Amino acid sequence: MNEADLNRVWQEFTEKNDFKLNPDQKHVDMITKGILINEQKYGLKLCPCRLRNGTPERDLELICPCNFKAHDTWQKKGMCWCGLFVKR
Ligand code: SF4
Repeated sequence: MNEADLNRVWQEFTEKNDFKLNPDQKHVDMITKGILINEQKYGLKLCPCRLRNGTPERDLELICPCNFKAHDTWQKKGMCWCGLFVKR
């Protein structure tokens, strides 16, 4: 999967939700690159903004998209931790 494919998946994922991709395409591109680098390194599309500790349980929590509505950043800023997804 390349960056364009991943962006297309996210567009479809957000279509019928109360969030969308960040309109700042440069920011989206930066996060996308980080996720794809993590996939090459670790075999999983891990969040580029949070540290893995090497345990399978922790790594599963970091697969993008994560459960970002449970994060403070969603409540306070209306975005996921990395700012990839923002409230509509
Ligand atoms: S914080 Fe955002 S970029 Fe990071 S895993 Fe969650 S949804 Fe993806």
